[in-house]
Amino acid sequence: MGQCVVARVTHWYEVVVHGAHPTSTTADDDSRNADDSDRLLAAAMALAGRRPAILTGAGVSTDSGIPDYRGEGTRQRARRPVRFGEYVASDHARRRYWARACVGWPSIRDAQPNATHDAVARWCLSGRATGCITQNVDGLHQRAGATEVVELHGALRLVRCLACDRVVEREAVQDQLLANNPWFAALLAGRSAGDATGAAPDGDTDLDDEMIARFHIVDCVCGGALKPAVVFFGENAEAPVVQAAWRMSEASTALLVLGTSLEVWSGRRFVEAAAKRGLPIVIINRGPTRSDHLATVRIDGSIAEALVALTP
Ligand SMILES: [Zn+2]
Repeated sequence: MGQCVVARVTHWYEVVVHGAHPTSTTADDDSRNADDSDRLLAAAMALAGRRPAILTGAGVSTDSGIPDYRGEGTRQRARRPVRFGEYVASDHARRRYWARACVGWPSIRDAQPNATHDAVARWCLSGRATGCITQNVDGLHQRAGATEVVELHGALRLVRCLACDRVVEREAVQDQLLANNPWFAALLAGRSAGDATGAAPDGDTDLDDEMIARFHIVDCVCGGALKPAVVFFGENAEAPVVQAAWRMSEASTALLVLGTSLEVWSGRRFVEAAAKRGLPIVIINRGPTRSDHLATVRIDGSIAEALVALTP
């Protein structure tokens, strides 16, 4: 057994660490055939002596009850999100957003960090990782204690005025929304606590048009339109946030990708940059990702199980 492990380690050390990184067909073929423990060992070897940046997506929060947009079985949940241009231009779009978000918010607000968030926090706090670049807007990495977190797509816990830039807590806006719409508050109270049915990672959810038409939204004290401090479809991530993510990425000597299918360029660019630098890239996700061909090691399965096994 010991010999077997040594042989495996030597093998992976050659193909993964010394060997020509992801472009090697041998490494690709081997990784496809390797079993889970081989992959974990390979991941540990790839990250040994390295200080990765950790890139996370919706898949790390599904264990906290926040559904993934693109994970297994989510196709039927797909719905049209409000786009930025539409949100700014249309009073109806803003009503639609806030009515739906009003239903979804409590399940995001009350979600608890899971084993993956805890493990990511340990990597960050111990200095083993340079930090965490997250595409999530749920704030669960920070709630688990992680300090070096860049929220690439913003934070749902904050709301910003489009006119005067004032920032307010989402929870305060929720209180005002419920006060403006007592009938809606009664409807929400009828839902069981923590029921995330129909909710999506952005706190949005499904509602019928009649309810949306009756819904009174909340404006800023300046009279401007409020918008959650998250990046909408059709909107770019904020430049200072992206710059912080690049600094974290550039200070890293590996990349650990968790729970994202890497469909969106704003996250995928960090994988491409790490590959260009020849850094080891470990991807742990349930299902395929768009950057699997760049992975030094690819683990398809439970993120929490794999990450906990890799966490010192
Ligand atoms: Zn304002």
